[in-house]
Amino acid sequence: MSETKNSLLRAEQLTVGYEGVPVVGPVDLEIRKGEIFTLIGPNGAGKTTLLKTLAHQLEPVAGTVFLNEEEIAGRKPTELAKEMAVVFSNALKPDRMTCKESVAVGRYPYTGRFGTLSDEDEAVIQRSMEQVHVADLADRSFDAISDGQRQRVVLARALCQEPDILLLDEPTTFLDIRWKAEFLKALRDLSENDGLTVVLTLHELDLAQKVSDRVACVRGHTLDRVGTPEKVFSGTYIADLFELDPESYRRWFE
Ligand code: ADP
Repeated sequence: MSETKNSLLRAEQLTVGYEGVPVVGPVDLEIRKGEIFTLIGPNGAGKTTLLKTLAHQLEPVAGTVFLNEEEIAGRKPTELAKEMAVVFSNALKPDRMTCKESVAVGRYPYTGRFGTLSDEDEAVIQRSMEQVHVADLADRSFDAISDGQRQRVVLARALCQEPDILLLDEPTTFLDIRWKAEFLKALRDLSENDGLTVVLTLHELDLAQKVSDRVACVRGHTLDRVGTPEKVFSGTYIADLFELDPESYRRWFE
């Protein structure tokens, strides 16, 4: 039986980059239903470029991306948005809306940009806010809450799209350690309880090790190692990858 049956997002001979100049690839990649898949690697290795291409925000230099075994190229954005939600760092920019209004924006694939919210839309908005514990912020201004709260409001907005898969670029960058842990716990709950598939980039290796079902290392224009955290974080691989001194590595990861 081919693994493809369980694959939700798949890349075949994918090369990513800018204006025809490759950054990473060609790579084959298969993200399975319900897993948390994390891209790690040194700065500038190409994690964000790969994620943006998987999210259909950047044209591949070569190769093909499939979502639910259908090519993403050529899909209508609103149809794609019902299956895939994407959170990049610009989602946190100031916004004069209330938190609930900001979350409701995530219903656009179903309502149209200026559409009226149905009872079902309202129910999905409420449920999404409850899933990531921001329901009590509904009437607060998006600009007047903490970074950690804002990050979860943005996550609720993505959940409102009722996606099968969520792609996040460095979602914990602006959070302090408590909020980082809480945010990643929310992702784990969504994956375990609701079968949501999550692909993210993280620069914090200890968090990647804790939250991921599988990790992929982007380095040297390729995916150097893909596997469970136990496998990828074993031996001196990570220390070599990041040119860490072995003693500090042991303190953090063993
Ligand atoms: P990472 O996310 O691993 O830090 P990026 O994907 O952001 O790496 O960047 C990979 C490479 O692509 C880097 O060399 C970076 O300078 C380059 N790059 C990033 N954005 C652009 C862009 N818009 N145009 C051209 N090159 C870019």
